[in-house]
Amino acid sequence: MAKIEPLAGIKKIKPYVGGAAKVAGVTNVTKLSSNENPFGPSPAAVEAFQRAGHDLHRYPNTDHAALRTAIGDLHGLDPDRIICGVGSDEIITFLCQAFAGPGDEVIYTEHGFSMYKISARAAGATPVEVAERDRLVDVDAILAGVTAKTRLVFIANPGNPTGTMIGVGELARLAENLPENVLLVLDGAYVEYVEGFDGGASLVTMRDNVFMTRTFSKMYGLGGLRIGWGYGTPEVIDYLNRVRGPFNLSMPQLAAAEAALHDRAHVARCLSENTRLRAWLAEALAEHGVPSDTSCANFILARFASEDEANAVDDFMQSEGVIVRRVAGYGLPNCLRITVGDEASCRRVAHLIGRFKGVIPAPDPKISGKKDDKKGDQKEDA
Ligand SMILES: *Cc1c(COP(=O)(O)O)cnc(C)c1O
Repeated sequence: MAKIEPLAGIKKIKPYVGGAAKVAGVTNVTKLSSNENPFGPSPAAVEAFQRAGHDLHRYPNTDHAALRTAIGDLHGLDPDRIICGVGSDEIITFLCQAFAGPGDEVIYTEHGFSMYKISARAAGATPVEVAERDRLVDVDAILAGVTAKTRLVFIANPGNPTGTMIGVGELARLAENLPENVLLVLDGAYVEYVEGFDGGASLVTMRDNVFMTRTFSKMYGLGGLRIGWGYGTPEVIDYLNRVRGPFNLSMPQLAAAEAALHDRAHVARCLSENTRLRAWLAEALAEHGVPSDTSCANFILARFASEDEANAVDDFMQSEGVIVRRVAGYGLPNCLRITVGDEASCRRVAHLIGRFKGVIPAPDPKISGKKDDKKGDQKEDA
């Protein structure tokens, strides 16, 4: 009946579902479902964003030269080999659009980020899932999954929602053993949380068939502003720039990202707090009988005894105003992904899981109930 039909592949897309932000009837929610930085962006980024508001009648520049130079200076990379986009999501979209079409295959891994599949389908290509090994990217499985039709391989390192990562030796082995016409994309959304890791940048510098994506959404606390970037060969960058809209990034985005990059003290503080609280939370959950793999990112993938238990924990936490992420859609039905928040949030999570597990007794309503139940509080009420 319908005459208006989309291109092949569009109807197969299962739309991305973001982390929930609300619980009906609960006002004071703790949102730990989207791996956002609990400390927010650098105040300098907010200030730059506001200053940019005075010039909203001006078009932004199209070449993003100042931001690319700032990124290049910080990471020791050639700015001509950098492209900026509306989040790294847009860079992923460009990659699929430029390199994979009908008849081509795009490899992603078992628990991989869902945007790879969505972008591959949107480009008309066929997404191909390969197995991981105990929630870890398996280089041999990827190599075994390559066919004559493969054009792109996406891996997030550290991974989301697993939080695990493979070493640079494994990355190099993967790059070396892929056919020359297959581009390996290293999604580095969480690289800033791994001290001493360049996200694979040096591999990109050395090899023509490797590309790296990065984002301002996680460590830089600018998820709401939508800024990411990619690093590849000059040729690949040129192809991506051909599909990029000239004004894809607005002036406030460019200004805020550049300012955020320069505030190294903010990044250092967020990194050390994440490292400290991540270890604390993982240990607290382990003490309550909830294991997790060692996380290299700003979240923990908590493993429960069963899907039913994971869902019951999620329901219980939601009823108490704490929102975490169910990851059954990523092939991990017995797990919950919990963002490492600030200290109060981490304590709240550990306490609730302890209560669920019966390790910590439920609060006695006579003690923790309303103020008028408690004699000692009455003078405050007066
Ligand atoms: C959060 C995340 C991104 C970042 O997406 P943006 O579009 O830059 O906000 C990319 N890849 C993975 C694996 C992520 O978890």
